[in-house]
Amino acid sequence: MKVYINGEFFGKEDAKVSVFDHGFLYGDGIFEGIRLYDGNVFRLDEHLERLEYSAKAIMLDLPWSREEMAEAVCETCRQNELTNGYIRMIVTRGVGYLGLSPKNCTEPQLIIIADKIQLYSTEFYEKGLKVITSSTRRMNPAALPPMVKSLNYLNNILAKVDAVNLGFQEAIMLNDQGYVAEATGDNIFIMHKGRLLTPPSVSGALVGITRQTVVDIAMELGIEVQERDLTRYDLWISDEMFMTGTAAEVIPVTEVDFRKIGDGAPGDTTNKILEAFRKRVTLEGAKI
Ligand code: PMP
Repeated sequence: MKVYINGEFFGKEDAKVSVFDHGFLYGDGIFEGIRLYDGNVFRLDEHLERLEYSAKAIMLDLPWSREEMAEAVCETCRQNELTNGYIRMIVTRGVGYLGLSPKNCTEPQLIIIADKIQLYSTEFYEKGLKVITSSTRRMNPAALPPMVKSLNYLNNILAKVDAVNLGFQEAIMLNDQGYVAEATGDNIFIMHKGRLLTPPSVSGALVGITRQTVVDIAMELGIEVQERDLTRYDLWISDEMFMTGTAAEVIPVTEVDFRKIGDGAPGDTTNKILEAFRKRVTLEGAKI
């Protein structure tokens, strides 16, 4: 494996950042998770735009143009001879003093890792996931807006650990008002009476690239889509439910908080969207 760090490639063992990097010391940085399908980087421009928005939100000046970052992503795939896989793009604040202030961090670090991936086994795409609502709430937008894809994932990790310790695959995170925000690394959709519903980003959902792809697909399929606040009750009584994310893609959920969703099997619309998603990802994207 060859890891990109600031324009150079390093073997896995030699790919290192300083312990004085504020990304390591404080989670001061941002990232993107991107997919490569059949030699096409899926929605690369949208990922880079979100990275730029995250950078702006945390006042980190990216010294690279969008084109330079795109080329670095593609070159990392080429160097690793990958045509299908997962790309992790990380920007840290860079090396500074031990104090919180980033004012001495003058050189952000750009790290790109490209590797093979399978997050969930095929069984879960066929049978669906069992999830539980976490008692760990999603961060309030007045703290660190959850729309920022920052290196601060401890909030999500705590929720995931709770769920896994209880024997579930994923956790549903509510916002501080008690509305559904998202899963720990995925967005949430439900089908209810023929309409596809998903929480708005202001309620604590990351503006997911897969989420937008699914909205595009649903609209093409003639399914009405609505962004609106959802409660746990809305999930419990939904006809179908699924989660979306770059790594998970589109994955059915068949049980929430011990309540069966629909008849307990992945729903027809979910399967239709999943099928359309799989077709679409190989057609769209920037050639490496
Ligand atoms: N929410 C969170 C917290 C995430 O980390 C992710 C994964 N990036 C998502 C949602 C899904 O976003 P995307 O479809 O862009 O991967």
